[in-house]
Amino acid sequence: MFKSIRWKFILVYFLLVFIAMVIVMAFIIRKFEDHHLNQATRTMEARVRNLVNMSNNITKNDDWNLVKEEIQTDVKQLPVYATEIIYIIDNSSIASIIASNSSNTKIIGQSAFNLSQIQAELVIDAKKYGEKREGYSSIDNGASRAKHLAYPILSDNGNVKGIIYLTSDMTDMYNTLEESKAILIKATVLALVITVLIGFLIARSITEPINDVTKKAERMAKGDFNQVVEVKSDDEIGQLASMFNYLTLKLKSTLAEVNKEKSKLDTIITHMADGVMAVSLNGEIIHANPVALDMLKIEPEELSEIRYDEIFDESNKRITLARIASEEKWRGNEIIEIDSKVYNAEYAPLIDENFNIGGMIIVFQDITKQQKLENMRKEFVANVSHELKTPITTIKSYTETLMDGAIEDRDISMSFLSVIDSECDRMARIVRDLLQLSDLDYKQTKWNKKSININELLKNIYLKIKIAAEEKNQKIELSIEENTGEIIADKDGVEQVILNIITNAIKYTPNNGAIEIGASSDNDKATITVRDNGIGIPKEDISRIFERFYRVDKARSREMGGTGLGLSIAKQIIEAHNGEIRINSEYNVGTTVDIILPLK
Ligand code: ADP
Repeated sequence: MFKSIRWKFILVYFLLVFIAMVIVMAFIIRKFEDHHLNQATRTMEARVRNLVNMSNNITKNDDWNLVKEEIQTDVKQLPVYATEIIYIIDNSSIASIIASNSSNTKIIGQSAFNLSQIQAELVIDAKKYGEKREGYSSIDNGASRAKHLAYPILSDNGNVKGIIYLTSDMTDMYNTLEESKAILIKATVLALVITVLIGFLIARSITEPINDVTKKAERMAKGDFNQVVEVKSDDEIGQLASMFNYLTLKLKSTLAEVNKEKSKLDTIITHMADGVMAVSLNGEIIHANPVALDMLKIEPEELSEIRYDEIFDESNKRITLARIASEEKWRGNEIIEIDSKVYNAEYAPLIDENFNIGGMIIVFQDITKQQKLENMRKEFVANVSHELKTPITTIKSYTETLMDGAIEDRDISMSFLSVIDSECDRMARIVRDLLQLSDLDYKQTKWNKKSININELLKNIYLKIKIAAEEKNQKIELSIEENTGEIIADKDGVEQVILNIITNAIKYTPNNGAIEIGASSDNDKATITVRDNGIGIPKEDISRIFERFYRVDKARSREMGGTGLGLSIAKQIIEAHNGEIRINSEYNVGTTVDIILPLK
């Protein structure tokens, strides 16, 4: 309870007021008492002076015992105060009472020492020192109190003649004093209660809005930002409340903005094509997007258990944290290979709020395709160079032989020139095929698409190619459906493809083999099939047969005038017609090529 400012405030306030009131009260009571007691002393002294002025017997006579009746008469003449008794005491050693206004006449002649202890003490002291002595007595536990005054009267030679002793009953005064004290205490307590009550109300008016702000701030800290405090005044507390409301609104909008940005970033990171990973300084994986998890074969629930460096095997240790941490800048990239895929791993330091390195961020970019393309490009350049180098070397050596003198022999010259001619043709074919491929690559081939009757097209081709087959004594057959239908295509292009496929069948089928050209249609597709019972293609080569310059048996292909580009061109042309080429082949058994094209 005393944690609250309100209660602390009230407690301190109460204590201060209490202490102040007790001090003030004690001071007032003390002053009050002093005043009354001094008043009593002054009254008693006035009485003594009164008696002395009035009684010549007391002043003129040095031996009071000679005039004690007269003194008694003088004393009796004094006005009677019910509360006061006067004793006239001689200077004898037993201090006899020689006169008194007391109603008790028996005390006359008695020793003053017998009356009470305080009386005896005061009388002795007054006599001894010749000076007045005062004192107080209290009996019955303070129910009856009195003030005593022993007043010595001196003779002309300075000796004490006797003592005028006054006892004044102060019980009433003390009772009045006690009553006043009680009233004062009651008033103080009442004032205290009132001030505490006022203090409480004031404290409440201050602390209540602060409490409200505190409670709402607490709720805000727990994530509930829909907190509004009531602004009840225009003072500092009211300003605090309206500032709090402003802060809430600002915080809400800032948080919404931050959340929006965060979710944007999360979405980007989650859906990006590259793998992203954040790693702490001690190797914990702080974040990994789905691509990174998939790439590194990590289940999301395993993330907390796995250390980043454990993921990579010996061949990829270049991107471990231990290795990168040895660099000064923690920045760079490495090419790594995981499961026959190639990645460019780009890493950079994670900088914390104190501008220190707090970890590492690494982005894995799958560059398998680019790498493959790059390799293909290199391979292609090498292939082209190689393909052109062979005929050039041949031409060069034949030309040199001719220049060295072989030209003199007409027959040799002719045979050499014919070789040179055929090598030139070969180069021309390669260049022609490459140019065509380049046109196809850059989509620069102009297609003259028209409606073509498949049966007619095949019959034409058959007539053109028949001779070449017959030269090899091969049986070539055209077995087509009555009406295969029509396609919309570039006649030259499609004819080039079919001719290439049939030429291949003739080329790669030994003498006396059989070749069958078929055509069929099915719904919206026409299939042209060229089947041979030739040398076939080994299984492992079938998938690569459409690659540029790829040949199963390079020497044989070259020997037969092949460039190794025919099938790649064929594939490109058919694909440009939204068709498809499929090759089925069995080594040493035969090959079947299907050209599938959409019907008109
Ligand atoms: P090439 O000019 O060498 O014939 P292609 O691109 O037309 O080039 O064919 C590529 C390779 O495919 C050929 O070198 C050959 O090894 C193989 N090939 C093509 N057709 C057949 C077939 N009908 N029978 C066996 N092998 C074939």
